[in-house]
Amino acid sequence: MRKIYLDYAATAPCDPEVVKAMEPYFFERFGNASSLHAYGQEAKKALEDSRALTAGFLGAKAEEIIFTSGGTESDNNVIFGVAEALASKGNHIITSAIEHHAITEPCKVLEKKGFKVTYVGVDKDGLVSPDDVKKAITDKTILISVMHANNEIGTIQPIAAIGKLAREKGVYFHTDAVQTVGHIPVDVNALNVDLLSLSGHKFYGPKGVGALYIRKGTRIGRFLCGGDQEKGRRASTHNISGIVGLARAIELCARDMGKEAEALLSLRAKLIQEIPARVPEVRLNGHPQLRLPNNVNFSIKYIEGESILLSLDMLGIAVSTGSACTSSSLEPSHVLLAIGLDHATAHGSLRITMGRWTKESDIDYLLENLPKVVEKLRAMSPLYEKKRAN
Ligand code: PLP
Repeated sequence: MRKIYLDYAATAPCDPEVVKAMEPYFFERFGNASSLHAYGQEAKKALEDSRALTAGFLGAKAEEIIFTSGGTESDNNVIFGVAEALASKGNHIITSAIEHHAITEPCKVLEKKGFKVTYVGVDKDGLVSPDDVKKAITDKTILISVMHANNEIGTIQPIAAIGKLAREKGVYFHTDAVQTVGHIPVDVNALNVDLLSLSGHKFYGPKGVGALYIRKGTRIGRFLCGGDQEKGRRASTHNISGIVGLARAIELCARDMGKEAEALLSLRAKLIQEIPARVPEVRLNGHPQLRLPNNVNFSIKYIEGESILLSLDMLGIAVSTGSACTSSSLEPSHVLLAIGLDHATAHGSLRITMGRWTKESDIDYLLENLPKVVEKLRAMSPLYEKKRAN
């Protein structure tokens, strides 16, 4: 059976070049970067070279990067770490209604401890208004966190504008750039951010490794306490092979990102044109232009996204109904509800995310099969039956 992977926003396969770069660090270069002997120093050099490369890609300084276990840890560290460091200054955090759970869950934990969190809403395309953020700022606000691009609907936020107003008000600004790093340009100075999260497995690096950018002078508490790795900011023996893999993945993105995005934009345009042409009663979710080059999200009325996903899976096509983290829950996605969809329409959402190895023939195969799957499922749908009877 043909196998087509269209769920790159959930995770991407490692680039073979990444695995090649990592391999020696499992074997002859296995040292602990904190050791003083030659094995350790070899690992330390790989660590610092990777840090410099990662920083350079983001327009940051090497000392402003710490390596973490991924996007979740970086996000959690920002929310808990800033809350801890600035507790005497204030207890108010502003974020958006469409953030990843790696941001909203720690916010909920803080709310239980007495912090106030404002979840700024979005418009029908999923855009956060900088004006709304500005209005939410109080003299107790210590942090604003707005994601660079949404993992479900792909909408890219006006981060530079929000960052500018955060700076004017003297409030730290974080962006979760897990879905953008390696895919579209990300520069910490152009974006006016103080803190930024990224994750290796979203851009063809290994899973379980990420980074957090911390602008020099930003006060933030530690997330992991123990040894003095990362200058005491993040304890635990360095995952050198993972860090080397992440840096190699960044090198490849720096080289190929532009032409990859161009190819993906043309496949995205084809999907956005052809799905509504072939499948009646669908709605594109997310901003029509300000969206990730690899992301398409449609609500397909009268049927469940999960049924479409499973039917496509039987044909060898892997897609998603929302973020992988929420797809095991029966609750509709908070992102789709935030853009104003009713529960039924939100339940019928399908996310198609492409990547480095997606071919036009893969998209054609999906376009050939999706209308048949939808027709079959609608034929069994009581909602569709009711609509036709009216
Ligand atoms: N933030 C966003 C926007 C994501 O899409 C994800 C993963 O899907 C994460 C954070 C969590 O990243 P990780 O899987 O590296 O913990």
